[in-house]
Amino acid sequence: MDRPRGVQSRHPAVYALLAKRAGAFVCDDCGVVQYAGKWRWGAPPRVEIQTGRCPACQRIRERYPAGTIRLPRAFLERREEILHMIHNVERARKAENPLERLMEVKESGGRLVITTTGTHIARQIAHRLARRFHQKARIRYAADESLIRVDWEESAERRPAKPSRSARRRGDRP
Ligand SMILES: [Zn+2]
Repeated sequence: MDRPRGVQSRHPAVYALLAKRAGAFVCDDCGVVQYAGKWRWGAPPRVEIQTGRCPACQRIRERYPAGTIRLPRAFLERREEILHMIHNVERARKAENPLERLMEVKESGGRLVITTTGTHIARQIAHRLARRFHQKARIRYAADESLIRVDWEESAERRPAKPSRSARRRGDRP
């Protein structure tokens, strides 16, 4: 999971440079278009076009996420619900900013680990999960805010909130 030291300070600058490329650009991998400094989906304008790989696809290729979210072990039993939630967040985010995407959702050491190509989508997923499960996330940024890591406090590692037995019994009463 952890990268060698020194890598973090160099890489974000490379991605920032890619993001500021001048003129129209079309990504070979995902087809996203950059024009007049903006990334968007759809057909490229009728101007000279450069091709290559967008920063999001570059990160995916290099397996270098901008966001890493490690969920508490207890969240694993709500996997389907969580997957549904994060895919919904991605759909909305990606439409707004094509460089904000999910990279991978995997199980590692009994936890779900989510990686993303952008920091905004990671923060949004963290907030949504925290709200849904009433467990505050711990969010850490790299010094230049180009990387984000989200974790949950060890003490918060209990079963996700569910209606308790007593609450259900109370609800069943006539
Ligand atoms: Zn791309």
